Amino acid sequence: MTTLLISDLHLHPGDPELGARFLDWLERRAHGAAALYILGDFFDAWIGDDLLDLGDADPTGNAELATRVVSALRRLSDAGTALYLMHGNRDFLLGERFAAEAGATLLPDPSVVELGGEPVLLMHGDSLCTRDTTYQAFRTQARNPAWQQQILALPVPDRLALARSLREQSGEATSNKAEAIMDVTPDEVARIMRAHGVSTLIHGHTHRPAVHALDLGGRPARRYVLGDWTAEQGWEIVVASGQAPELRPFPL
Ligand code: MN
Repeated sequence: MTTLLISDLHLHPGDPELGARFLDWLERRAHGAAALYILGDFFDAWIGDDLLDLGDADPTGNAELATRVVSALRRLSDAGTALYLMHGNRDFLLGERFAAEAGATLLPDPSVVELGGEPVLLMHGDSLCTRDTTYQAFRTQARNPAWQQQILALPVPDRLALARSLREQSGEATSNKAEAIMDVTPDEVARIMRAHGVSTLIHGHTHRPAVHALDLGGRPARRYVLGDWTAEQGWEIVVASGQAPELRPFPL
């Protein structure tokens, strides 16, 4: 039995092709896996789980997409694949209702899980980019439950407008901030891996897929970075029992 990890699909109604190919991937590839972890920025924007009530009444198509995706996830979890979701910097408002309807568990960021017989630290990755201080200030605010309640109380059109403006200013690979600022801070990677006593870290966010060999004070370690999906190509990490994680791109 294998475990699959993916992140940064950035699903949105403006890219129906990507949505269709992801749903196809779920049927072909994820069914039969022991577990699927989605490590954030699954949706390009998420304005609240009440999106699931809107259906065709939402002219932006976000509700229709959310409804299709949640039922596909439900089919997967009902078929026996354990499903885990972690928030990203775009879909941090994804809530317990979405998770319950999908048959998924929301995982805190960071989380340590056992994969291939080894403890592995899972993160979205945005918190590792400590040099982007403007974004880190926003992140602190966005993870505050009181702030989230305030946002979720706004009417849907206001929240859609807010999501659009956040997308324009968010800490993401498309930003015009300096390259180094947009990547993880090596010291922060070492710090958090030591704090959790792990030799393996898996995250996404930076859209810079790679496997980095690290030296944690004489102890060899690895940092796996998942890639973002397009309608043409996806990225996954596969963990077969007793084996090291393997990062691979695949055509969609
Ligand atoms: Mn991200």
